[in-house]
Amino acid sequence: MIPALMPTYNRADLAFERGEGAWLWTTDGRRFLDFGAGIATSSLGHGHPHLVRAIAEQAGRVMHVSNLYRVPQAEELAARHVANSFADSVFFCNSGAEANEGMVKAVRKYHAETGHPERYRMICFEGAFHGRTLAMLAATGNEKYLAGFGPPVDGFDHVPFGDMNAVRAAITPQTAGIMIEPVQGEGGVRPATLRFLRDLRAACDEFGLLLALDEVQTGMGRSGKLWAHQWAGIEPDVMSSAKGIGGGFPLGAILAKEHVAKHLKPGTHGTTYGGNPLACAAGNAVLDVMLAPGFLDRVDRVARHLWRGFLDLAARHPLVVEEVRGAGLLLGLKLRPEVNNGEMQSACVAEGLLTVAAGMNVLRVAPPLIITEAEADLALEMLDRACRRLTPSQAKAAAK
Ligand SMILES: *Cc1c(COP(=O)(O)O)cnc(C)c1O
Repeated sequence: MIPALMPTYNRADLAFERGEGAWLWTTDGRRFLDFGAGIATSSLGHGHPHLVRAIAEQAGRVMHVSNLYRVPQAEELAARHVANSFADSVFFCNSGAEANEGMVKAVRKYHAETGHPERYRMICFEGAFHGRTLAMLAATGNEKYLAGFGPPVDGFDHVPFGDMNAVRAAITPQTAGIMIEPVQGEGGVRPATLRFLRDLRAACDEFGLLLALDEVQTGMGRSGKLWAHQWAGIEPDVMSSAKGIGGGFPLGAILAKEHVAKHLKPGTHGTTYGGNPLACAAGNAVLDVMLAPGFLDRVDRVARHLWRGFLDLAARHPLVVEEVRGAGLLLGLKLRPEVNNGEMQSACVAEGLLTVAAGMNVLRVAPPLIITEAEADLALEMLDRACRRLTPSQAKAAAK
């Protein structure tokens, strides 16, 4: 019989009842070091006192009123994001896919309102992940996710990630913009080079296209800067955020320059509970922590420490690890073809470490941003033991 909870996930047989910082406890009393953070989402870890208090206090006052009224918490959160980014204006929603949908609508509307309604197509990249709604499945372009859901939504063209010649060749009079993750997360923790991001910005300027960044996974401090594109010294025209922006509370956002945002007039886009008082109280609490002096520098420092540890780990286990990749606290171990990332993930669980699988046989590590170097070292020891668990069978396979 079908489970009451629709079986869209292959869930691990673990149920957590409590968390504190980077640690989670199961209902049967086992403790895990959480280096998955609910897929790069619980960025302040579990039970962060400031976030918990903000949510509890707001819940007791008023949770939801709809966007028919002013929402002071949303006005404040938007103003703070504007003050700390390229953006002039922010739209709040509830998830990454919803933010990306709105972002693509904003790009199309911009061209429609500036005399180019024929420009509606987005150039996207192979290996991308933009979400599970019908249009974002098309933007993702992965056959595995598209299969069985009818004709893909029109308007998304795919080129190889990092290939500037292919991008230029794909630009047509119908192209509206370029949509890219600064680091492909689900696709295999694959960073774009800073040069590629700058070249995309230049191409957008040259051809009158909009640069639309999907920073759902890379944003909100995960790279060691608030937004990953800041490392490249460029600014997008529009950007999506979700995951870490609410610290685990569902919240998404579209951040846009004025020339884009001004075309989303009343009635053109909306959401019932996007940006409600409760979600925005969470968002403000997250920003309180992340914008505090030294927080992002600390993330950068711990990330570099973890990166060095990963390089050591890869050197010690060449039969398991093929490559270390990623940026900041979004790191990946690309495993040798003989080793399956699902098996590696299970070996980590056996050692008490939670990680997330990603495409291209990559084990993804995306801890809460509040981890200490000591916790990073603990995770490295667990990963080392997990690699040793896998090495014998792997070595056998390699010897064949
Ligand atoms: C997770 C993710 C999404 C989708 O976010 P949801 O909240 O699951 O809809 C979109 N883009 C990127 C880059 C993501 O990592």
